[in-house]
Amino acid sequence: MTLFGKLDDLDTKSNENQQNKKITETEKTKVLIIGSGPAGYTAAIYAARANLSPVLYEGLQPGGQLTTTTEIENFPGYPEGTTGAEMMDDLKKQAERFGSDIRFGMATKTDLSKRPFKVTIDDKKIIETESLIIATGATAKYLGLEDEKKYAGSGVSACATCDGFFYRAKDVAVVGGGDTAAEEALYLSQLCNKVYMIVRRDVLRASKVMQKRVFETENIEILWKHQTKGLVGDGVVEGAKLVKNKGEENEVDVDIKIDGFFLAIGHTPNSDIVTDYLDTDDTGYIKTLPGTTKTNIPGVYACGDVQDNIYRQAVTAAGSGCMAAIDAERWLAENS
Ligand code: NDP
Repeated sequence: MTLFGKLDDLDTKSNENQQNKKITETEKTKVLIIGSGPAGYTAAIYAARANLSPVLYEGLQPGGQLTTTTEIENFPGYPEGTTGAEMMDDLKKQAERFGSDIRFGMATKTDLSKRPFKVTIDDKKIIETESLIIATGATAKYLGLEDEKKYAGSGVSACATCDGFFYRAKDVAVVGGGDTAAEEALYLSQLCNKVYMIVRRDVLRASKVMQKRVFETENIEILWKHQTKGLVGDGVVEGAKLVKNKGEENEVDVDIKIDGFFLAIGHTPNSDIVTDYLDTDDTGYIKTLPGTTKTNIPGVYACGDVQDNIYRQAVTAAGSGCMAAIDAERWLAENS
């Protein structure tokens, strides 16, 4: 071996050592759940009650997307409604009551090539698990404008309930025409002076009941058939540059003065860490066998928004979390 060969070898070994050093712990589980929205917590309740001692890692946003929503009026069993944060807190307590081990931490890598499946947590620890339930949800989409990055945290937000407070008595805009946009606009209308809804078509996608509320709210103005070209402002957002009737004869530029620009145009599934192994659709939603939570790998299950681009409701996510725990339990019974 040449000196260079030896040095290369040493380099490789030292890199391996450094990587190994980072992994300080390995632990074994029967059921590992990643993600903590209604799907993850419900899977934990069912797996715990089946005596499977599930371990659940909550991810970056414990409680998931619902913790950033306002009133939940459509979850069965809450005649007066509740808040997302309260509901997630209740689900977590319920899962813990039956012995779920709920931990703060983020799954950063997976190896699903063979059993036990390996899931790396925070790049530090490996969990070797007999079965895996993926309930990692979805994340808000952005328009892809440079200005969204430029003004991130300085007027641009994808969560009205998190950041709306900073815009009290100011003028703001919400992009989108779905239920999320309607909900965010209604929430902001109670805090802000004026709320524009920037809607790219001449109809809203939101449910009729939400549309009615929006139309009846005086300080919400819908900018139909408008799209956003960019944002302006000295360090913070002070306005948006829009175009109306884009591509049509009567296309016209429109400028609005706003302090806050809220995105509400849909979501991307959080499936990155498993796409090397699991079948997904074109947009990254994990494919499951219809009527089940089974993925293409036996012993790996997906529930909630990471596998659902149609219903995306708290109640359907919770239902699929229950299904994932039952699917995992049956599979473990047959394969342990
Ligand atoms: P949706 O996909 O329903 O709506 C997205 C909206 O953003 C649409 O109006 C869409 O326009 C618009 N949009 C998408 N991309 C762009 C773009 N590049 N530029 C401008 N506008 C864009 O997403 P939501 O997050 O609103 O809702 C997701 C699901 O969650 C739905 O099923 C909804 O019913 C549900 N939900 C339920 C709630 C409740 O029941 N309380 C609350 C919130 C959500 P276009 O219509 O032209 O495609």
